[in-house]
Amino acid sequence: MHKKCTLKKHILIAEDHPESLLLLEVILKDIAGCTFETASDGQEAVDKVRKRKFDLIFMDIRMPVLNGYEATRKIRQADPDVPIIALTAHVMPHVKPKCLECGMNDFLPKPYSIDKLTALLELWTKN
Ligand SMILES: [Mg+2]
Repeated sequence: MHKKCTLKKHILIAEDHPESLLLLEVILKDIAGCTFETASDGQEAVDKVRKRKFDLIFMDIRMPVLNGYEATRKIRQADPDVPIIALTAHVMPHVKPKCLECGMNDFLPKPYSIDKLTALLELWTKN
């Protein structure tokens, strides 16, 4: 049983894989007490950030249209400050530095533990 919290943050999930998306939705809603919007490709994520402010973005790397790196570069032009956390199964050594170089703040390899994900969420959304 995981400790529930009510962070009440509004999160953008950029993720093209339905099962990964569903897992994150359940964690955010039922365990972290957050609301969210979703984007199934990088361009959709960029468009959503241009329309409204999010407290944090979870960013998949491998997505259609724009990948997570390209989407992050564009998002940084619209919002330099929103925390962006990469969630990816690609744990090759070059991936984390590339994520940070593109403007992401942190990196969590999949599969991740729920506790680790909520800890990162708390860390990056505390004021
Ligand atoms: Mg993907």
